[in-house]
Amino acid sequence: DDSTSASTYFESYEDLTVHRLMLEDIPRTESYKRAITLSNMFKNKIVMDVGAGTGILSLFCAQAGAKKVYAVEASKIASIALENVKENNFADVVEVIQSRVEDLPESIKVDIIVSEWMGFYLLHESMIDSVIHARDKHLKPGGKIFPEYATLNCALCSASPLFTTNWDNIFGHKMSSMRVLERQSLMAKPQVEMLEEEDILSVSRNILTIDMNSVTVQDVSAIRSKVFIATHNSGIYQGVVLWFDVTFPEPDEENEEASAEIVQLDTSPFSPQTHWKQTIILWPEDREVEEGDIVAFELFLGRSNPESRSYVIQLSELDAATEEHPVPCECGSAKC
Ligand code: SAH
Repeated sequence: DDSTSASTYFESYEDLTVHRLMLEDIPRTESYKRAITLSNMFKNKIVMDVGAGTGILSLFCAQAGAKKVYAVEASKIASIALENVKENNFADVVEVIQSRVEDLPESIKVDIIVSEWMGFYLLHESMIDSVIHARDKHLKPGGKIFPEYATLNCALCSASPLFTTNWDNIFGHKMSSMRVLERQSLMAKPQVEMLEEEDILSVSRNILTIDMNSVTVQDVSAIRSKVFIATHNSGIYQGVVLWFDVTFPEPDEENEEASAEIVQLDTSPFSPQTHWKQTIILWPEDREVEEGDIVAFELFLGRSNPESRSYVIQLSELDAATEEHPVPCECGSAKC
């Protein structure tokens, strides 16, 4: 897949609009700023910013008192990061290195890694591999990773924002075939869209929890999860929605100024909107559900091949009536 090859991947990050979108994503950028500032961990520390982009996270680290920040960025945006560092008078602290993080000398050792590596449905782009690589090669024993945990979650949903055209009245004419074509094309790949709270038909289920201290590339290469879930709303069940959250390390308690707050960045439909929105996997057809109906499916996310940055996502239906429920079951029905 050419769009995910290494050179195309890094070229996509030379673009102004991509970085502006991230910088202006307030829940995203604010959570990193709060986590870094409130942690009280950065004073006199050596830090690596994996995929520094415009250098914003490196600036937060420098401001929080880091002794040295390696701002590692493979794309040409690194030259802008350098200008940003100079303009804010942190050139003596932040060293911008235009390189793939994988190509750095082994001799660099750091106390803390910060990185904003998350993609759509957490894993898209597979940048987590580079953070894992940096951890294994450059993080001192006992070092910290910002963020420290990540989870991937799913729920049953309607997907009303994907279906806004009324195919029964196109200038007074019906176009039912267009509705069929539309469904086929939307189903063909995961849809990134912002859902409303009302679109969510069930509680959420965790399908993956990542501990950045120990996760391996293999752990995130193939995820298979059977989900049994009871709807808590009646409505039109059209698909499964995925979202993620990340949690930053608990602030250092030894410092008296430390606020006890643990910072979390949550991309669920119940949290303020981020540029990740949510990811929706549609079924071929709508299904009406009543409150309390039990729905079961299997979700598979896997690398298309070991070198690929992209994932295939497969959703398959399970028959909740005949399929053996897991023990203990979380479907929420009285029978279980
Ligand atoms: N930290 C910035 C940018 C995040 S986007 C911010 O928070 O705004 C991720 C960045 O990581 C992109 O600029 C991309 O080019 C860079 N990147 C991804 N993989 C990398 C790797 N292996 N080595 C160095 N940079 C990488």
